Amino acid sequence: MIRVSNIKLPLDHDEQAFTDAILTTLGITTEQLTTVEIRRRGYDARKKNTIFLIYTLDIDTTINEAVLEKHAGNQSIRLTPDMTYKFVAQAPTDLQERPLVIGFGPCGLLAGLVLAQMGYKPLIIERGKAVRDRTKDTFGFWREKKLNPESNVQFGEGGAGTFSDGKLSTQIKDPKQYGRKVLTEFVEAGAPEEIMYVSKPHIGTFRLVSMVEKMRAKIIEMGGEIRFSARVDDLHIEAGQVTGITLANGETIKSKHIALAIGHSARDTFQMLFDKNVYMEAKPFSVGFRIEHEQSLIDQARFGKNAGNPILGAADYKLVHHCKSGRSVYSFCMCPGGTVVAASSEEGRVVTNGMSQYSRQERNANSAIVVGIDPADYPGNPLAGIDLQRQLESNAYLMGGENYDAPAQKVGDFLKGGSSEALGTVKPSFKPGIKLTDLSKALPDFCIEAIREAIPEFNKKIKGFAKDDALLTGVETRTSSPVSIKRGHDMQSINTQGLYPAGEGAGYAGGIMSAAIDGIKIAEAIALSINEQQG
Ligand code: FAD
Repeated sequence: MIRVSNIKLPLDHDEQAFTDAILTTLGITTEQLTTVEIRRRGYDARKKNTIFLIYTLDIDTTINEAVLEKHAGNQSIRLTPDMTYKFVAQAPTDLQERPLVIGFGPCGLLAGLVLAQMGYKPLIIERGKAVRDRTKDTFGFWREKKLNPESNVQFGEGGAGTFSDGKLSTQIKDPKQYGRKVLTEFVEAGAPEEIMYVSKPHIGTFRLVSMVEKMRAKIIEMGGEIRFSARVDDLHIEAGQVTGITLANGETIKSKHIALAIGHSARDTFQMLFDKNVYMEAKPFSVGFRIEHEQSLIDQARFGKNAGNPILGAADYKLVHHCKSGRSVYSFCMCPGGTVVAASSEEGRVVTNGMSQYSRQERNANSAIVVGIDPADYPGNPLAGIDLQRQLESNAYLMGGENYDAPAQKVGDFLKGGSSEALGTVKPSFKPGIKLTDLSKALPDFCIEAIREAIPEFNKKIKGFAKDDALLTGVETRTSSPVSIKRGHDMQSINTQGLYPAGEGAGYAGGIMSAAIDGIKIAEAIALSINEQQG
């Protein structure tokens, strides 16, 4: 096929305009055009009242060779690259050792799936519950303020992104088509087909739940096994080589190949790994608040008269401001038409995050507004960032009234200083509830100063962003892992052979897609190592 990129058409173009653009770009006739597949559809909304759609297409004609020859040297018209994912290994028929995967988030899910597809029959260990039971616990927490520290937004089948917006974008370079492999698996498990081509794909919470179940069934069908409510409490290491694990119930399991895909919130597990001398370093992360506006305000600011167009959907934004102090403030995990959620995994601590459904039809837009911090801000051992997170989350719990309500404040009051006494037009979506207060006491002073500088700057890009009634809720502390568990080129821990630190918790991913892709890379490394050791 021929890959044609940068076909630009008005937002409201019709079928004929689409076909005409192809014929003109390639210089062919209607009769010569046989197949058109949309590979990617993005939009250019720099001029909000004149929005263009930008297509990348895979096209078949009756004269492919001649067309390619005619456009040789044109980077926008070339042979479609091979996009199939290729397995790197096949398990030996006398497989002597089952690899272990710790954690069943996107990273562990794809690691387990790809290992199973190559015939390695992985055993996956997940501390939380299967996704249906986990959903009851999580929604129960939001309704009744009863936190289950082992089954919540962070822990359980599907990992941290299960109750999320399910955004699937990633910026990583991907010559081996790992991303396409992930999306293909997601579609087979029930994700909307459009995730294969829209520029900002998302799935939404409810679909993610059933997709995760289907992917689990697939792993089991191929000989894999998944244990829920099974927390890994100890790692066995002999002469620098990992040899197995002990679960919370005392059971031990042997393996010399262990994928460590524990996410960024397994603080007790980080401590255990640190105590075992697995090499790790403190890592930069970000802290801040969730901001909420009416979605209609964001739609209007981004899309002008095109607001509400179904092709565009609910508008998102991405903002960054470099402060005079040298700090950066940016928007993170923006959820159009979504809700702010309680993302605690430890008792007596409050953490915010965001989620949405596929339709993105809730009244408010929300996004984290966070300040980058680094180990110089939390000197000490590699776990010092966790201490800071805990301190901020405990403080937020106190400020919220010690009942899992989150401290909140109107933007106008936050910028002026002082407490908020009453809500304005933006109604909070956070469950279980919020307590209006003075959020300047929720973060270190340098963060407050940076956010106060950034919000008016963001208002220049999104008109109304700094409006008095917009709402801040806090605290947002789980933006990425506070530690990095270092691995070498062979994907193994630099001081513990056979341990494969992976995904967000180890510092190798930041989101569903990059975590899932890292899971595939780990599966490949484990498969190759097992084959080498078995000869
Ligand atoms: P995780 O998903 O955190 O999975 C780790 C798993 O390991 C967990 O299930 C945990 O229970 C398990 N585990 C931990 N310790 C142990 C142990 N000792 N024994 C056994 N099991 C253990 N990203 C996006 O790209 N798009 C979004 O829209 C998005 N929205 C989000 C919304 C929310 C509310 C949250 C919390 C996160 C969101 N993210 C989003 C981030 C995304 O979810 C993570 O980047 C991603 O899940 C990381 O994948 P992971 O597999 O590395 O880790």
